[in-house]
Amino acid sequence: KLYNLVQDLKGNIRVYCRVRPFLPGQANGFTTVDHIEEGNITLMNPAKYCKDGKKSFNFNKVFGPDSTQAEVYTDMQPLIQSCLDGYNVCIFAYGQTGSGKTYTMSGPDNLTEETYGVNYRALNDLFCLAEERKATFTYEVSVQMMEIYNEQVRDLLATDGSNKKYPFLVFLLRLVFSFQFMMISSAKYASRLPVSTTADVISLMNLGHKNRAVSSTAMNDRSSRSHSCMTVHVQGKDLASGAALRGCMHLVDLAGSERVDKSEVTGDRLKEAQHINKSLAALGDVIASLSTKNAHVPYRNSKLTQLLQDSLGGQAKTLMFVHISPEADALSETISTLKFAERVS
Ligand code: ADP
Ligand code: MG
Repeated sequence: KLYNLVQDLKGNIRVYCRVRPFLPGQANGFTTVDHIEEGNITLMNPAKYCKDGKKSFNFNKVFGPDSTQAEVYTDMQPLIQSCLDGYNVCIFAYGQTGSGKTYTMSGPDNLTEETYGVNYRALNDLFCLAEERKATFTYEVSVQMMEIYNEQVRDLLATDGSNKKYPFLVFLLRLVFSFQFMMISSAKYASRLPVSTTADVISLMNLGHKNRAVSSTAMNDRSSRSHSCMTVHVQGKDLASGAALRGCMHLVDLAGSERVDKSEVTGDRLKEAQHINKSLAALGDVIASLSTKNAHVPYRNSKLTQLLQDSLGGQAKTLMFVHISPEADALSETISTLKFAERVS
């Protein structure tokens, strides 16, 4: 019975990998990837960086550089359905800066229907599925967007433009946490706005991006050094029985996982790097301990894992989607990304 339980838990964690294509104008010659088969990726000559000589990694799925946004999304679609069925879902995009995390989750800057990312496709499907079920269910959908920067949560949909930081609330939650009285959830941190069409979603995403950009000007490209999280809440009601169900989905574009050379950065930059390392490590620890039969799950070691606690573990479904860059000079980061992914799978 315990074995089944463990298998169930494992079944709730999936790990995918996506290799970014070379960008226009880049020389396409030398690549770090030898070949890709279904769920396996094999690197070329990594011995120099990888002391154990390991060069082949297995995941639930590996997407090569030619994979399209639609193909990638198709494999994630069952999770969207789960959310409407009342499950909590977390999807993480992990990888070094420039590896394609934002491309997968949101799409490129010049969006077209073909390049829409997971966020948009997921919500679009959510509305379609809800419509299909409307004879038996009614659904209400609402959205939050948050950013975690230096272990502080910021509401990206704050409409008054002041981007509240909730200092008192955070203090209070910390206090409550320290007494283990209750769990916090993202709901308490940020504005939650109702959406009923994909047009609503696009306008909220634009607002979120605008709010996020405000802080980037001060400290140039902060987006790669903060986690951004879009949370979709679904509240359903069975029209026949009146029974209610609740599901939510967190779509997380993580901060760049590249290691920062401590000898080269100081001050704010060093602090940022330490916060990122700590929170990505904490996330890895949580998922790794969920995927083994570890009874203690260390949720409390970062703001990110605290925020998502309700949606990591238990019946919740998690997808860790790691991204790698194809360039030869990214090889050492690529190996460390693949090792992170292997550890949580
Ligand atoms: P990250 O968010 O990990 O820092 P981005 O998503 O911003 O990386 O990707 C870096 C650059 O590569 C962007 O210009 C993006 O449009 C491009 N890119 C990333 N993934 C792909 C892909 N699968 N196909 C085409 N272009 C991509
Ligand atoms: Mg990005």
